[in-house]
Amino acid sequence: MDVKEASGERFEARELTTFKGGGWATAFMPENEEEFAEIVRKLQSEGRDPFVMGGGSNVIIADGEIDTPIVCTRKMNALRFEGDVAAFEAGATVAKLLREARRRGLGGAEFLEGVPATLGGALRMNAGAFGEQIADLAVYARILTDKGGNLQVEEIKPNFEYRKGPSGIILGGAVKLRKMSEEESLERRERFLKFRAAKQPRKPSCGSVFKNVATSEDRAREAGLAAAAKMCAGGICVLPAGALIEACGLKGRKQGGARISQLHANFIVNEGGATAGDFLALARLAEEMVYEKFGLRLEREFVLLE
Ligand SMILES: Cc1cc2nc3c(=O)[nH]c(=O)nc-3n(C[C@H](O)[C@H](O)[C@H](O)COP(=O)(O)OP(=O)(O)OC[C@H]3O[C@@H](n4cnc5c(N)ncnc54)[C@H](O)[C@@H]3O)c2cc1C
Repeated sequence: MDVKEASGERFEARELTTFKGGGWATAFMPENEEEFAEIVRKLQSEGRDPFVMGGGSNVIIADGEIDTPIVCTRKMNALRFEGDVAAFEAGATVAKLLREARRRGLGGAEFLEGVPATLGGALRMNAGAFGEQIADLAVYARILTDKGGNLQVEEIKPNFEYRKGPSGIILGGAVKLRKMSEEESLERRERFLKFRAAKQPRKPSCGSVFKNVATSEDRAREAGLAAAAKMCAGGICVLPAGALIEACGLKGRKQGGARISQLHANFIVNEGGATAGDFLALARLAEEMVYEKFGLRLEREFVLLE
């Protein structure tokens, strides 16, 4: 690709995101770190700050034609093993890591089975499930940093919080796995996938719409949600966002082509032809009703790109 000439290509949201509804965007698909840095440099010199996208499994692209240019990592997908450490380019998928690890007698990331993410996106969002998260495995992240106008790559030991990883542009990273027989890894895979199939809808979505809500044990009891609260410690409870939305009677609520899933109220699915507007109307309704009923603010997990 001649980066200097590259002006990106127009893509529809359905080609870039797993929700498969929304508008149009110009996206660049670099194939290596040098191309990536060159595109970022070019866009920044034009005063256009790019949005970095991986698998698009947590992103909603607003309807219409959005201005923000996207730099998508999906063609940067190399994965290399050294012992039990897997070093990856940001666009390598979770599925590829799991598959390649299993072939080498390694495991430990099976909690991410079924998550349609890139490893860069998983690091950025500290993706996790079933009480485990990628923070537990991360060794380092390679970050593209701006040093007084010069773009450089830095290897850092990332800090993590709940659904939040290192900030900045992640070009790659490494995770440490553990020895595991193929049989055990496959058994874990089946267990996690079975759980997902029972609890999560299959229709296009962006995964969990909201983060779970931390509150006091007293508050959870007052709201009548003590039974749904998880991980109570030191008087702090975590209330699943889905339980709060369900308690507002919103399961199954439809707007245009989008619906709050009947299976899990923290998922908004695209039943065909959903726009970003349909999705956002349901997300706002959930925010308003949960606040009205419980006085609790839902925090968005998805990223809206406008
Ligand atoms: C069916 C389904 C199941 C899911 N299950 C889970 C689950 O169990 N647990 C969970 O935590 N999440 C889950 N998700 C949500 C989503 O997969 C995660 O948030 C994932 O980490 C996003 O990765 P991505 O590559 O798709 O990132 P994107 O959706 O493309 O981007 C998400 C955010 O990360 C940023 N980003 C992406 N790549 C980079 C990069 N290289 N450098 C800097 N920033 C970057 C983007 O700018 C954006 O802010 C699920 C989603 C779906 C659709």
